[in-house]
Amino acid sequence: MFDTAIAGSLPKPGWLSETERLWPQWKVEGPELAQAKLDATLVWIRAQVAAGLTVIGDGEQSRQHFVHGFLEQVEGIDFEHKVEMGIRNDRYIAMVPQVVAPLKLRGRVHEAEARFLRANTDRRTKFTLPGPMTIVDTVADRFYGDRVKMAFAFAELLNQEALALEADGIDIVQFDEPAFNAFMDDAVQWGVKALERAAQGLRCTTAVHICYGYGIQANIDWKASLGDEWRQYEEFLPALAASRIDQVSLECIHSRVPPELMALLAGKDVMVGVIDVASDRIETPEEVADTIGSALRFVSAQHLIACTNCGLAPMKRAVAEAKLKALAEGAALARQRYPG
Ligand code: ZN
Repeated sequence: MFDTAIAGSLPKPGWLSETERLWPQWKVEGPELAQAKLDATLVWIRAQVAAGLTVIGDGEQSRQHFVHGFLEQVEGIDFEHKVEMGIRNDRYIAMVPQVVAPLKLRGRVHEAEARFLRANTDRRTKFTLPGPMTIVDTVADRFYGDRVKMAFAFAELLNQEALALEADGIDIVQFDEPAFNAFMDDAVQWGVKALERAAQGLRCTTAVHICYGYGIQANIDWKASLGDEWRQYEEFLPALAASRIDQVSLECIHSRVPPELMALLAGKDVMVGVIDVASDRIETPEEVADTIGSALRFVSAQHLIACTNCGLAPMKRAVAEAKLKALAEGAALARQRYPG
């Protein structure tokens, strides 16, 4: 009861890349970089196991950014000429690559780190990919001229990589779709269908993560503008409940999402955010157990997975390590408090 998992990303060590950045520059290159990425992955596999998490990820140590890491292996994308673009409904400006030709995978994207993860823990493993709608919202289109068409083109490529990750022995493939919270109507009209295309044919567990973003200033300002109740989830959770996706990762602690919205996901596993990524303060096990307790009013115990609100990539390494421990200790306390 109460599996524990991270949403996806963890901070990169200072010897691998710049720290506390969303788009950090690597500090080494070539074969040395490939080795350094795996070394950092091992650091975080060990840290998650030592903390006591039951589901282990690679911490996204091998990709510069959660979206662009995938795109670097896609043909038809011009990375040389990035352009400035408003993303997540113009919440912030990013330098994004351009789609200039039909999309095609050059080969495997995440084979090295997925196999390395599988080889270095006996626990269940989770691997994250960006979702189709979020990719479409993080590239400039100079070719397709149609967001839906381009999303389904990306969904096919994601599906190829997802099936290969399953063959690598990954237990849970998760797609990250923060864009759902910026384009709720689109999520209902085609976002969930594109997600299902990306997950087509998978026999492993499938998941989607939808959040209010990393704990960076643009997101903190945006959240302050959303009012007393954040009801974005309400619009598309019914479509997700009717989909083939098995698990849904949502923000909970310190967010203004009404917890009763989780009831819209009856029958699904819900990854409940019990760790805040927008604050360096370390949660106590009691707080984590309290958050699990409040979610239990709307999610049954066998469907509740304790998780972080979002990725921890831009945080300080020591803070992230302490938050992993708080997550595991809080879930252990909840198992005592709320025995099935
Ligand atoms: Zn997130």
